[in-house]
Amino acid sequence: MTDHPGSRTIRRQPDQTRALSADLCVVGSGAAGLSAALEAHELGLDVLIVDASPQLGGQAVGSAIGTICGLYSNGESPHRVTHGVMDRMLETLSRNGDAAARRARNTLILDYSINAWMRWAEDAVASRGIRPLTGAVLRAAAVDSGRVRSLEIATRWGDYRVEANTFVDASGDAALTWLAGQPLTEADRSIYGTIMAVFEDVDTDICGAYPREKYHEAMRRRGADFGLVRHDGFIFPVARGGRVLLNMTHIETPQEAIGLALAGIEGRQQIDGLLNLFRDEFPEAFGQARVAIYGQPGIRQTRTIQGRSRITVDQVRTGSVPDDVIGRCSWPIELHTELADTHWEVFDADHMHHIPFGAMVPKGLDNVVVAGRCIDAEPAALASVRVMGPCFAMGRAAATAASLVGSGSFHQIDVQALQNGVGDNISRNTRDPWTAEFTAETGREADGA
Ligand SMILES: Cc1cc2nc3c(=O)[nH]c(=O)nc-3n(C[C@H](O)[C@H](O)[C@H](O)COP(=O)(O)OP(=O)(O)OC[C@H]3O[C@@H](n4cnc5c(N)ncnc54)[C@H](O)[C@@H]3O)c2cc1C
Repeated sequence: MTDHPGSRTIRRQPDQTRALSADLCVVGSGAAGLSAALEAHELGLDVLIVDASPQLGGQAVGSAIGTICGLYSNGESPHRVTHGVMDRMLETLSRNGDAAARRARNTLILDYSINAWMRWAEDAVASRGIRPLTGAVLRAAAVDSGRVRSLEIATRWGDYRVEANTFVDASGDAALTWLAGQPLTEADRSIYGTIMAVFEDVDTDICGAYPREKYHEAMRRRGADFGLVRHDGFIFPVARGGRVLLNMTHIETPQEAIGLALAGIEGRQQIDGLLNLFRDEFPEAFGQARVAIYGQPGIRQTRTIQGRSRITVDQVRTGSVPDDVIGRCSWPIELHTELADTHWEVFDADHMHHIPFGAMVPKGLDNVVVAGRCIDAEPAALASVRVMGPCFAMGRAAATAASLVGSGSFHQIDVQALQNGVGDNISRNTRDPWTAEFTAETGREADGA
């Protein structure tokens, strides 16, 4: 006979706030936060990583971004410019056939399997003993004399208080810096986000053979009938199984929960509209297609910190090298300020621009460093350096700085020691299995992000 479980009474205890402590607490597990957490662990720090989402990976996973940009230099023979844990992740993706390169915007981008990224991130965190606090929303920060002492974090199972020596704000929206009472900056007009999608059961040979202008022309001509607002973007075959990745919608990304939820629904309606339009216009490629994945709202840019220095568009265009450089990329300025299309400013073969550590250090705080898409940059400059290659480089710099700072201030970091720690992200140019694939003769041009 089956031994069924019995039951018992449980009661809430008066103070159920759980206390946690770490050398370093990273808020956000996207490209920047994940890189910061893993690099900091490699440098010997005890790390806790917090994310509001129930899964690790940030937008790279939840928003189904699907390609890594800003990782290679420009021109006909690109080389990789960002290393560190990125090397480890790419080794795994490469070994399992979960990434592939394509030419776009005068450089290389890497398509990756979204599930593979998530599984790599989870395994990397768990196997190193980094504690993941997921489904956990940062909602307050206690600050004393310019130092964040503790964070209050809400979960469905009750509250946590986290104390740490240093903190990385990799929240994408500068949530930690904001809650610590610092002023932030935002663009004076909308920078649109996107609902990404993956379609399955597509004839990818036919779909991939069409020039992208064919899709854009259909979107311009009939998009309004299908509820579409955008007339550009990319669609390309990925991995296996008749799947294509689409970046062809635009949505507002308000910093308010109900508004963002409604924008997400509106974006998914645009995805349904795209599917119906493509079925109608291109039945030979999309006649059997269905939506396999709808991403969560993809947020490009919201609030940015006010740092010790600010990346300007001029610095991006000229490629000037700041004294405290910690990373670099050559990705175009990719501005989503128009509903219908995207402004691209693509750079030449020998172009490279640089990220100063000063843009990662909020003015009024000593033990917080920021990484990812909320560093201090003019909106059009951020429209380049926010992509995932440089996010990894910023995560590495944040971790290296955390390993150096002790009980001091990020504002007084030994820049030379920091640069020694991230040296290969400043100056090493490598070939990898994907750069070898692409020469001027074999490269296929495709749309970027
Ligand atoms: C639609 C779209 C397409 C893009 N395409 C590409 C592309 O093809 N290639 C590319 O390289 N880049 C692309 N980008 C840019 C790139 O994806 C992002 O800029 C990058 O992923 C940002 O990483 P991040 O770590 O800074 O932030 P995110 O990935 O946004 O991670 C931030 C994390 O912080 C968490 N968080 C926020 N607030 C709190 C809080 N209060 N408490 C707890 N956790 C919190 C969030 O849950 C999230 O997981 C695209 C962006 C968008 C929106």
